[in-house]
Amino acid sequence: MPTAPVDCVVVGAGVAGLAAAAELRRLGRSCLLLEAGSRIGGRAWTTHPPALGGAVFDHGASWLHQAEGNPLVSIARAAGDPLRSADGLREWRTYVGSRLADAEELAAYDRAEATLRAALAERAEGAQADVSLAEAAASFAADPWTRTVLAWEGLIAAADPGCLSLRDWHLNSLAGGNLLVEGGLGRFVAARLGAAAGPVRLATPVQRISWQEPGGTVTIGTPHGDITAGSCIVTVSTGVLAGGGIVFAPALPAPVEEAVHALPMGLLTKVALRATGPDRLDLPASCAVDRQVGPGETLMSLHFWPGGADHVVGFVAGATAWDLAREGDAAPAAFCRDTLRTLFGARADRLFAGDAAVVTGWGLDPLTRGSYCYAVPGQAAARSLLAQPLADGRLVFAGEACHSRLGGTVGGAYLSGKAAVGLSCANAPARPGVGCPG
Ligand SMILES: Cc1cc2nc3c(=O)[nH]c(=O)nc-3n(C[C@H](O)[C@H](O)[C@H](O)COP(=O)(O)OP(=O)(O)OC[C@H]3O[C@@H](n4cnc5c(N)ncnc54)[C@H](O)[C@@H]3O)c2cc1C
Repeated sequence: MPTAPVDCVVVGAGVAGLAAAAELRRLGRSCLLLEAGSRIGGRAWTTHPPALGGAVFDHGASWLHQAEGNPLVSIARAAGDPLRSADGLREWRTYVGSRLADAEELAAYDRAEATLRAALAERAEGAQADVSLAEAAASFAADPWTRTVLAWEGLIAAADPGCLSLRDWHLNSLAGGNLLVEGGLGRFVAARLGAAAGPVRLATPVQRISWQEPGGTVTIGTPHGDITAGSCIVTVSTGVLAGGGIVFAPALPAPVEEAVHALPMGLLTKVALRATGPDRLDLPASCAVDRQVGPGETLMSLHFWPGGADHVVGFVAGATAWDLAREGDAAPAAFCRDTLRTLFGARADRLFAGDAAVVTGWGLDPLTRGSYCYAVPGQAAARSLLAQPLADGRLVFAGEACHSRLGGTVGGAYLSGKAAVGLSCANAPARPGVGCPG
């Protein structure tokens, strides 16, 4: 189907793509938003799985982190969408083996966390070379809680501490409040950001981008035909970019390719199991449970009865999550049941009887190839490098990978999508015809 030339093609209708399209509309530029999948929202996706009795389930993002500076919080407030404080709702339980940690152990855990965080921040801000998070924490190995603190950081970053750039981890470590939007974050993104972005062409995978065409145009190749544009904003994950999901002609400059590979995708898998009886394991609603991590163990944190629902969500990340994902959905679910059994014994087996489980599948999804990216040691600058416009703004990358302070979050993706419009030549004053000046 032939398509009239447009000022800008935006590739991918996740948070970054929706933000970019809305900004282009606001500026009065013509825009086509192309999405390979059958829905908008990308890694922000809410469903109501029958296996959870129809409860709200966010497969990807669920929290609005760093609420004070998060642009999506202002959008929710302006739209009148109710927000709840995740921190205010949440209660914590920590286990040592199969018993609750005592007061002394909890105090030791708090001390270990505060000491380690302060030391890591000091090292990250210093002049020493960037190393991995694990290496930077090596001198704290004797503390029995260090492994647990690091396991949490790996869980949040979706990669093992030995893989993470200390500096990138520090730049993107989230402070401040965490808010939940009623009905799910994915639903909110599709409704609010979707409305602002305008029409989207679904089931339209971009296969090829020729970004240095004569006359200063860009040609975007899809199975439904080529599109000519003045510029192109690409918001797909670094997993899709590294996997060759889109062919660039000419090939991307070597530093850009290197930046893509310096930002590999981590994996965070969620496993949700519904209680089959009235037992609530003596845990309150919205209760976060962790346990002291021993040598060679992987932390699966558990979020019991979110918002009063009758299910638990287990979170596992890094190499273990990748290994489990490759084995199929039954493996992460079995890992979750094992964790529950370790903490609650046969009581958990009775409560979570049956095979029904919801397991997120971001690792093997060809449209994401992971959950979100991290920088490898020594490559903390890769995010800003990837965000630099190419060919005078004809080609700009955006998305969670391209934000250096809120990397891996919906807030970062949104800000990056909006910023990409400013860096794109579609931002130049309106002109007759299509094609960038110069
Ligand atoms: C399990 C999990 C938990 C998370 N938890 C949180 C959280 O609590 N809070 C938070 O802030 N963030 C969280 N995140 C991260 C957050 O979801 C992402 O950072 C953000 O949604 C990324 O948005 P994006 O627009 O950069 O990319 P995406 O959402 O990946 O959007 C890119 C879009 O491009 C499409 N696409 C891919 N290839 C092509 C192609 N060839 N042509 C056209 N379209 C294509 C994809 O289908 C996708 O829709 C979580 C993510 C996961 C997976």
